[in-house]
Amino acid sequence: MIVGRKFGMLMVVSTYRTVRDMACCVCACGNEHHVRVSDLERSHTRSCSCLKRSGRKHTAASKQKLSAAATARAARKRMLEVHHAAQA
Ligand SMILES: [Zn+2]
Repeated sequence: MIVGRKFGMLMVVSTYRTVRDMACCVCACGNEHHVRVSDLERSHTRSCSCLKRSGRKHTAASKQKLSAAATARAARKRMLEVHHAAQA
């Protein structure tokens, strides 16, 4: 049973009945990643490729950067909601 096993940063969460040799993994960075079981077992695949990306240690950091504007918008909206709630 390969489900639950960890390969580097990847943990196998499920396999496919219909597609042999493919596993659905969750990377330590939070990404879902589909890999070949044989690649995992031969240590070819150790992460969702976030390890390979140069200049980035974690995809979560880059995601945060990308959504900084959206987060700021959400924060402003939240503050407005709080303001309205306080007035009500
Ligand atoms: Zn990753």
